Amino acid sequence: MPLVLHVDSDRWREHLRSTWNPDIVPVAKGNGYGFGNQRLLAEARALGARTVAVGTYFEVPPDPREDIVVLSPWRPFLDIPQSKNVIHTVSRLADLVSIPAGSRVLIEVMTSMRRHGIGARELRHTMLLNALDRIRFEGWSLHFPMGAGGTSANVREAAELGKAAQAVRRGPLWVSHVPAQKLTDIGENVKLRMGTGLWLGDRGALTVRATVLDVHSVRRGERVGYRQRRVSGDGHVLVVSGGTAHGVGLEAPTAAASVRQRAIAMAKGSLDAAGMALSPFTIEGKQRWFAEPPHMQASMLFLPSSVAPPAVGDEVGVDVRYTTTTFDKVSMD
Ligand SMILES: *Cc1c(COP(=O)(O)O)cnc(C)c1O
Repeated sequence: MPLVLHVDSDRWREHLRSTWNPDIVPVAKGNGYGFGNQRLLAEARALGARTVAVGTYFEVPPDPREDIVVLSPWRPFLDIPQSKNVIHTVSRLADLVSIPAGSRVLIEVMTSMRRHGIGARELRHTMLLNALDRIRFEGWSLHFPMGAGGTSANVREAAELGKAAQAVRRGPLWVSHVPAQKLTDIGENVKLRMGTGLWLGDRGALTVRATVLDVHSVRRGERVGYRQRRVSGDGHVLVVSGGTAHGVGLEAPTAAASVRQRAIAMAKGSLDAAGMALSPFTIEGKQRWFAEPPHMQASMLFLPSSVAPPAVGDEVGVDVRYTTTTFDKVSMD
């Protein structure tokens, strides 16, 4: 009775092979982009990646064989795994002073993203220059915003900041969110950290399916569910696998700027304040309404009488966001 991510493994791996090259550092973090981080680490290894990036220190695998870059910055109050393979990101002058001598370090430079980083004007600060002699310097880190400003703005900014940083100390530039084809426009020795474009770059290789767990016929106005809401017409109530524990109906606050984008986000299962919400489950090619907000592991849907209901055990399609969904199973088909 699971919510399953089906992967056309030949097609998916073909996409991975055609996208990856030695300048690309695969990112495995969070829910592992739906696949799980362990699987992504194994796939990265199969591609030949010598370095993989994770989001936090909690995600550093035990006894890693490859080098592991931790994307979120080192802080003195964090529990840091002791491994020679870990490469830290340091984003504040004070942390460059506190981090143990000999640590492998990327120094993050502030970009227009304004999340973490040492300001471009502080690159010649004595705290930084002195630290360069204490740490094992692995390069500079630059993280750019997505969308809006456009990728050419990111490439330009990366080239400028990269030049300023490499004038202080030569070393690789580790960038995020610039197009893979533009690395040579930024400079020499540029590495690109990539998650979404790699793992989720060919959506056609991925299908999500839920199982129908129960089907009940209902009449208009009858009450159903925890909330005892009245159904809006004659038809069927379907109970399908997939609920809040899987992330169904829980959307990360949408980045959707336009009405169209917001409509898409809604259609992917965000719950509308108005009560009724379109579910991410599709039956006969159409998304169906939730009969009530999703439960922990299952959802109740309303199917009007004009549509023949599926049978218990049938599978239905689901359109979810991969980075916010926890699948019961990933099936490599
Ligand atoms: C998450 C993250 C990435 C990967 O982002 P995608 O959009 O999934 O490719 C790259 N760099 C940094 C710093 C990140 O935090």
